[in-house]
Amino acid sequence: MQQMQDEPFPAIWSDTPAKRRRWALLQSSNRFLRSQEAAMGSLRCHYCGTGPLRIYSWDDSNGRNAPDKATTDHVIPLSRGGPDSPDNTVVSCFPCNQRKGVS
Ligand SMILES: [Zn+2]
Repeated sequence: MQQMQDEPFPAIWSDTPAKRRRWALLQSSNRFLRSQEAAMGSLRCHYCGTGPLRIYSWDDSNGRNAPDKATTDHVIPLSRGGPDSPDNTVVSCFPCNQRKGVS
């Protein structure tokens, strides 16, 4: 299993605190997915069981709306004060994540 490092903040993004927060969240989400993949061997959707799911790079346009795109879902949404920690995070396929409307 190849260990991907955190990606540097994209040079094409405008460097604002909001974007920095979004990027930090994305990196922490990808770290969680990689650790799950390493532990479980493959990624499956917590909701519908679809798998194996793929971890797409942020700039991979193929992965933007791919049904096999691995995303993370916060059990208690961040917007409702849920922590960004592994025990508040589950693996979700992109369609389920969209359906739920939160991440
Ligand atoms: Zn699903």
